[in-house]
Amino acid sequence: MRQVPVFAPHFDMLENELIAKCLQSGWVAQGPMVAEFEKMVADYEGVKHGVAVTSCTTAIHLALVAMGLESKHDVLIPSFTFIATANAVEYTGATAVLVDVRTDTYCIDTVFLEKYIDERYVKNANVWVNRKTGKELWGVIPVGLFGICADIHEVNRIAKQYNIHVLEDNACALGANIDGVHEGGFGNPTCLSFHARKSITTGEGGMVLTNDTDLANTIRKLRTHGASVSATERHAGRGFLMPNFDELGYNYRMTDVQGAMGVAQMRKYNTILEKKRAVAKRYDDMLTAVPFLQIPTTPSRQSHTYQSYVCMVDYVAMGCKTIEEGNLLRNKLMAFLEDNGVSTRQGTHAVHMLGYYRNRYGYKPNELPGAYACDKLSIAIPLYADLSTSDQDYVIETLKSGI
Ligand SMILES: *Cc1c(COP(=O)(O)O)cnc(C)c1O
Repeated sequence: MRQVPVFAPHFDMLENELIAKCLQSGWVAQGPMVAEFEKMVADYEGVKHGVAVTSCTTAIHLALVAMGLESKHDVLIPSFTFIATANAVEYTGATAVLVDVRTDTYCIDTVFLEKYIDERYVKNANVWVNRKTGKELWGVIPVGLFGICADIHEVNRIAKQYNIHVLEDNACALGANIDGVHEGGFGNPTCLSFHARKSITTGEGGMVLTNDTDLANTIRKLRTHGASVSATERHAGRGFLMPNFDELGYNYRMTDVQGAMGVAQMRKYNTILEKKRAVAKRYDDMLTAVPFLQIPTTPSRQSHTYQSYVCMVDYVAMGCKTIEEGNLLRNKLMAFLEDNGVSTRQGTHAVHMLGYYRNRYGYKPNELPGAYACDKLSIAIPLYADLSTSDQDYVIETLKSGI
């Protein structure tokens, strides 16, 4: 039987070549390859600084610490995201407060967001205070999900109005843009992921992008134990003395082996993107008439980068009365596809329904109806640069015969 994975990274000899070069040089910890990778990503996104770290989770964590997040704060996060976005907030002792998403773009619902702040927070001097817990509203983390940007202009407007910070989680959105302006270009620091399942990969890895030189320097310092001189600088000069450590830092450094892989992947990113867009276009053309599927939306003024191709099962069109009934049908469809060698996933999960957040904060599933629906009805089907036409046809045929 044919086996089609939901995703496969795109590798060729270039990764081997650059990784071998790195091994031959004898320098495998963070060094010149990471620096080159940082520059490539920052240049591509049109941002001054890229700071590579071990994952997007640690990128978000460091950015939050560097931006001044403390345990007295609340941070608003769309519930339909990967749990890491919220966890990074909770590491600092601050509270991740989950808000709703739109079921068309899967990104933060800005109408809900503004209403939520008005209802749950009260203004005290220049700070918005949580009416129930007394925590101060610090900011919001919009998430660019599955390859598009969130509605950043609207998020920025709201953030300005309430005087709060914005940090973007663009783990899945390398190269996404609004009117040609890439993420990182909207005035906010932004975090990327290079996990195996993302647009390009270093196995595990992440990066903070920012135009703010002071912030970039703080993050560079925090990723290496708070050392006041980086190891690279130390080795370039006279390296026999240890640097000073005047604040609590972390070891979140990316290795040069990963940096080499990242450089190889970045050199090909335009090709990878072109191939993925062609695959997505074929899906769009061939699935748009399938009554039980809502194909991915590309918001106006954006161009999709298709980290994943995530559809929604249209439960009403399938004759279901409730989302729960629709959920059973979606799961049956996914099981049918799996039995026929086609791998799928739900888009991501609704974080407010996951044990840690539900138990700690007492969320009810229907409190965030958009995120709940996306959790129960979304389905990511196979999409990657090297997906063959015949495998894609097989996915489409199997999908159509599944319900
Ligand atoms: C994958 C992902 C993360 C976590 O990225 P890692 O590099 O695995 O830590 C965070 N946020 C979103 C939206 C993601 O999709």
